[in-house]
Amino acid sequence: MAEFLRKRLHLFVLLWLGVSLIVGVQWAISEYQRIQEDFERSARLAHGVIARKLDQNESVLAAVDALLMPRQQFDMPVLKAFSHQLLSHYPQLYTVEFFQNVTRVSRPAFLNEMQQRFGNTFFIRDFDVAGRRSWVPAPVRDQHLVVTMIEPDIPEASSVYGYDVLHEPRFAADMLKAIQSGHKVASAPFDLYEGGRVYLLMQPVFMGGGDQNAGPGTSKRGSLVGVVALVVYCEKLLAISAAEGGAADLDLSIRSSQYGGGSIFNTHGKHAGAAGWLPALSQLEISLPLSSVSQPFVLTVSKEVYLSDFKLLGLLLRELLVMSLVISLWLIYSQRQAMQRAQSQADEALFLQSERAAVTLNAVHDGVITLDPQQQIEMANPMALTLLGMQREEVVGLPFQSVFRLIGELSSELAEDPISECYREAHTVELPERMQLATAKGHVRLVEGAIAPLFSRGGVLTGVVCALRDMGPVRQRAAEALEASELRVKEHLEKLSHVARLHTMGEMASGIAHEVNQPLTAISNYCQASLQLLEYGDDARPQVESALRLAVAQADRAGEIIKRLRALVSKRAMEIRLIDLNQVVGNCMFLAEYDLKERGIEMVQLLSVYPMAVMADSIQMEQVVLNLLSNAMDALRDEPVMKRHIIIHTRREGKKAILEVRDTGRGISPESLEVLFHPFFSTKQNGMGLGLSICQTIVEQYGGLICAENIPASGACFRIELPLSQTVTAPVQEPTAS
Ligand code: ADP
Repeated sequence: MAEFLRKRLHLFVLLWLGVSLIVGVQWAISEYQRIQEDFERSARLAHGVIARKLDQNESVLAAVDALLMPRQQFDMPVLKAFSHQLLSHYPQLYTVEFFQNVTRVSRPAFLNEMQQRFGNTFFIRDFDVAGRRSWVPAPVRDQHLVVTMIEPDIPEASSVYGYDVLHEPRFAADMLKAIQSGHKVASAPFDLYEGGRVYLLMQPVFMGGGDQNAGPGTSKRGSLVGVVALVVYCEKLLAISAAEGGAADLDLSIRSSQYGGGSIFNTHGKHAGAAGWLPALSQLEISLPLSSVSQPFVLTVSKEVYLSDFKLLGLLLRELLVMSLVISLWLIYSQRQAMQRAQSQADEALFLQSERAAVTLNAVHDGVITLDPQQQIEMANPMALTLLGMQREEVVGLPFQSVFRLIGELSSELAEDPISECYREAHTVELPERMQLATAKGHVRLVEGAIAPLFSRGGVLTGVVCALRDMGPVRQRAAEALEASELRVKEHLEKLSHVARLHTMGEMASGIAHEVNQPLTAISNYCQASLQLLEYGDDARPQVESALRLAVAQADRAGEIIKRLRALVSKRAMEIRLIDLNQVVGNCMFLAEYDLKERGIEMVQLLSVYPMAVMADSIQMEQVVLNLLSNAMDALRDEPVMKRHIIIHTRREGKKAILEVRDTGRGISPESLEVLFHPFFSTKQNGMGLGLSICQTIVEQYGGLICAENIPASGACFRIELPLSQTVTAPVQEPTAS
């Protein structure tokens, strides 16, 4: 999982880098465009400002011309005053100068006038060719253009008075051009001695038109008085204040087409020095012609673009946006991944749960049917289909009533079926006993189970589940188990009964031995008597025969006793048949006779005159009676001889055969009465406590019952009731024995 997330994180980092790169490039392009646009705007602004200044220069000269033209005589003070007034308005103007036209003829008068103005030191002068600021007297020429006015009258310029500008190689050509054309002409730029680069914008001044003696430079409009020149300060011409919207980082340059495109002046923007250590990314440049006639310059605006010109805030904001977008995407992606994982885990859990439910439903031996809210069958598991005896396609989607019904075996037709009750009551309905499942195909099965409602999360009933168990096989198995257990009980009982019989026999053994010994003694006596009688010859023959018959009878009796004993103690299979209880009592008397006599007990038999026919095993019944007799004899053990009586009484009562054994002993204590028939209850020292328990089992086995009670003023009475056999004659009610 961590590996998966790391890979995805790498992917998002790459995505971030990629998008950042695109955004960065887009930002750089747009920033560069912005810088370009700003540059162009600033360049055009600068162009406008400079063009205006050039126009101002032209206007100033035009105004001077207009001031002087109408006059007949050149008026220096008027020009000076006017110039003084103008200069304060136009900072690009350094000075206004007047170069007076002096011809060979007018030279002496001029010198005279000037020496009066400036003193004797005044002379017409030329600039020293060595370039130093020193002057040499100018030779007498046909024409001079001499500096006679400088406004403002700056002290550094005072030595310039008298300077013959017409013969100065730097201005001569332009000056002549102005004089000849009569128009304004700009000179080549030059550096001032006191610093600064300037150029002259010159305007020839003519007065008194038509004078042919004016010498070179005169025009039809009059004679040349001189040339008025504006000394234009290049630096101030290109200076654009912030108020004028000037950009500080622009390099400005003016060139003149007159001088082969040579540069007049350059100014450099702030960047040049400031960003020394950073290389310029590129250079922007634009050339704009300045449309002045006399100052035919071209303005070149350039700018070096540095990284610092790019506004990083935009990139920063974009980057922030990209990062927040990528982070949001990452979060959304992670969230989706987590949701998908949770979803797949939930799906897996759901699958396992439904798989578990499906396997369970297939494996259980109960039929499970689910019904939807419309009481239609949604699902039936294999066991349910077996119960219904139908295929899945035959039941799914059908209303349950058309497939099966649950009918109570004992309930009426109109009674509500448990499924409808479950829908109505919305709680589990246990199927009552002996509920039948009747299918559309006519099968009927006994079922058990319950109908449970199914609720949605919101507690709305969404259907019911019927859990049905086929009780047919269960009942059959229960019956088989019961039968097997009864068989086992019977076998066990037989074993117990055998043991009990042996025990009873053991107790009666001495009596029985005596019983057998008696006939043997009698036989022996009869045989000895017969031998003695044989000595009397044939006369004694009848007596011998009689003695021998008696001996045979005694032998038969002994044989009979042994036969019965064997029958009683032998472990044999039960033989249920019609027997007479009186006969059973007779047989028991035969076995107990000696014991009774031995113990001095008087035995009273009150036997019914009617056959006491019951369906039972005679040996088992003998065992019951012998056991009751044995207990009665034990109860009389401590009684005085005169009070030792046992009464055995048989009679019919309705459809019952009654057999009672009473004694005259001390009876049974109330506590013993309650547990008398419990196995292993005995008050005797060597008693097993099984006798009565076995008697009860035997009697109940034949549909009878055995009970005990105390007879007031006498001993105990044990009463056996058995159903009389139907084959006997009509029941007779006998009088109860007293
Ligand atoms: P056992 O004879 O081995 O004790 P029984 O089941 O035959 O076992 O008898 C259980 C008990 O019932 C006897 O121990 C005795 O206390 C009591 N009992 C049975 N018959 C009589 C009777 N006729 N008189 C008084 N008590 C009796």
